[in-house]
Amino acid sequence: KAESTLSIIVVGASGDLARKKIFPALFALFYEDRLPKNFTIFGYARSIMNDEELRNMICKTLTCRIDKRENCNDKMDQFLQRCFYHSGQYSSEEHFLELDDKLKEKEAGRLSNRLFYLSVPPNVFLDVVRCARRRASSEHGWTRVIVEKPFGRDSDSSGKLTRGLKQYLTEDQIFRIDHCLGEEFVENLMVLRFSNLVFEPLWSRNYIRNVQLIFSEDFGTEGRGRYFDKYGILRDIMQNHLLQILALFTMETPVSLDAEDIRNEKVKVLRSMRPIQLEDVVVGQYKGSNEGNTTYPAYTDDPNVPNNSLTPTFAATTLFINNARWDGVPFLMIAGKALQSKRAEIRVQFRHVPGNLYNRKFGTDLDKATNELVLRAQPDEAIYLKINNKVPGLGMRLDRGDLNLLYKARYPREIPDAYERLLVDAIEGERRLFIRSDELDAAWAVFTPLLKEMEEKKVVPELYPYGSSGPVGVHYLAAKHNVRWGDFGYEDS
Ligand code: NAP
Repeated sequence: KAESTLSIIVVGASGDLARKKIFPALFALFYEDRLPKNFTIFGYARSIMNDEELRNMICKTLTCRIDKRENCNDKMDQFLQRCFYHSGQYSSEEHFLELDDKLKEKEAGRLSNRLFYLSVPPNVFLDVVRCARRRASSEHGWTRVIVEKPFGRDSDSSGKLTRGLKQYLTEDQIFRIDHCLGEEFVENLMVLRFSNLVFEPLWSRNYIRNVQLIFSEDFGTEGRGRYFDKYGILRDIMQNHLLQILALFTMETPVSLDAEDIRNEKVKVLRSMRPIQLEDVVVGQYKGSNEGNTTYPAYTDDPNVPNNSLTPTFAATTLFINNARWDGVPFLMIAGKALQSKRAEIRVQFRHVPGNLYNRKFGTDLDKATNELVLRAQPDEAIYLKINNKVPGLGMRLDRGDLNLLYKARYPREIPDAYERLLVDAIEGERRLFIRSDELDAAWAVFTPLLKEMEEKKVVPELYPYGSSGPVGVHYLAAKHNVRWGDFGYEDS
């Protein structure tokens, strides 16, 4: 078998994402020996830079894991020597041809595979794909393209983007990245469900009362206002990240762990989701606040956000799935910026114990204390199950205790960044964690009617102070579906 080479081309190499995530992830893979022996990395962007300047730029964000510090500097040097830069326009086939010449020189006649990472704004996706396809794709090996979100703003624009990409690429060349699918927590969701006997039999409307998906950030848009104002929290977090997690949480057992089998199940459950109704949504936008001597800005204080912006920075929605497993179970999703804490978790609240002996005998309010399973990605990755337990002693007192699996105690090793896993998968052609076109269509169909209606009706978001727990309306939404939401799920044991 001829020796092959891999060329990774980071398009938009001068940008934020490339510097903060892509190059550091590639470096981490290099020192973990997860890149092929012959590989070259090319940065491509319009900014004028030479190879040395690119290396100087990226070396500032490369880090080694705590347990791998020993020969870190040598490894960094070796890695940087494999990084090059080509400056060019995104729509210039001529410039991509120049890139192709440089790539061929490094590939030195070996069988070459090429991975393009599109880390550029969506308005140039199609130009890049056209030029790369026509002038810089591999002649003998494979050519794959990783595409970053946003994948459109609604069903129409997303469909248009997909049709555009498919003019130049086949479906199996397109790797739509949703970095949250590369998170350890999300990968573990299937393991938890399908390799433990104790969960899957309970995973239905028969035992689960409601499910909450919560994603909160304790900071605002901070320089991303221009981008964010066009999308808002529903598109930026909910339609993609939370919906993807929800699909993995609710799908039926796939035929196998093959990418297509898993993605088939995700599509099926996404298509069973009822489009979200406006009356099942609460939207908010953060306003300025003062705490001690510190003043926190309002969303509209961002210089790139219009003063009259109606873009939500917070949303809570209830979603229902019209299938036999989930009929009538409310799935509550919360996503927000500038809230009191940073949190990402799924909370599964189980039904009451039928004919609970202890409530009958002791008349306590144990009835409220149903079991709850919490899958927490942030802060402090953990899985815990809230159970009722007897307080040791002669009397009969029950207590709420946790069966707790705290990751940092059980797995002290540093957890790889999501981009590392996704890059390895793209290199190996593993598509399980990437979003297929029909999956994307089905995900947009859940949100597009709502987004259109909100824009037509100019729905005004409820203001909430920076650093608070969000708009008050959330409590009404929870109460409407009879959900015990604590302090938006911030309540803890
Ligand atoms: P960025 O810094 O705004 O853009 C990346 C590069 O693209 C810039 O360095 C610039 O390079 C070029 N560029 C910027 N605006 C352009 C325009 N209007 N027309 C043509 N080229 C332009 O973006 P980023 O934050 O790195 O993100 C890259 C992509 O990933 C975007 O699609 C973004 O939505 C997505 N994304 C980003 C993040 C994040 O954390 N930053 C997270 C998820 C997804 P030159 O001027 O040198 O050509």
